[in-house]
Amino acid sequence: MAFIGAGVLRGMGVTFRTFLETYPWGRVLLRGLRQPAVEGLVTIEYPDVKQKHAERFRYFPFLVYDGTPDNLRCVSCKICEQECPPQCIYITGPAKDEQGRPQKANGRTFPVEFKIDVSICMSCRICVDVCPFDAIEMDNQYELSSSERFGSLILNKQELLKPNEYFQRIKPTEASEVDARLAAKRPKPQPVFPPKAP
Ligand code: SF4
Ligand code: SF4
Repeated sequence: MAFIGAGVLRGMGVTFRTFLETYPWGRVLLRGLRQPAVEGLVTIEYPDVKQKHAERFRYFPFLVYDGTPDNLRCVSCKICEQECPPQCIYITGPAKDEQGRPQKANGRTFPVEFKIDVSICMSCRICVDVCPFDAIEMDNQYELSSSERFGSLILNKQELLKPNEYFQRIKPTEASEVDARLAAKRPKPQPVFPPKAP
């Protein structure tokens, strides 16, 4: 039977139950009383404790290299620069020699400079989707605060370069798909036939 204040008491009961669910001893108590108890939401004590993000979490892009930083995958084709909606990618290059011919490192052209203004980047991931070389990926590094309004939030090539092992660590599923795709594109070794007998 309803009585005045029953709704208030029910609401307080829900609040008390949610309070108990946030503590391990509270959940034990609830289960002891044969009540269902899920793990309640708690506030993470950042920065001492960092939240674990899902693999699909993304923040700003980074450039991937294999082995050593000079073996970056980017060939400076500038497709990402053209497609970036807020136009916050700035690429200089590809690098050229004194005669104006494109320079190559590990068989590929490469950018002289590659900058992303992360104060403008909107984390849309379009640069990743349009890159034909899987050279740029989304990072989950979010601790980039700075007291400077400009400068420190324009990341340069050195700051953007990260090894493929890092990509595998933060996004193992996506990185293994990319690795498989790149391995399929690599030219297969040609069979060596013995010379014909005269
Ligand atoms: S990151 Fe990809 S799309 Fe952008 S310039 Fe490099 S190779 Fe081209
Ligand atoms: S994530 Fe989007 S906004 Fe950021 S650099 Fe890439 S294309 Fe530009």
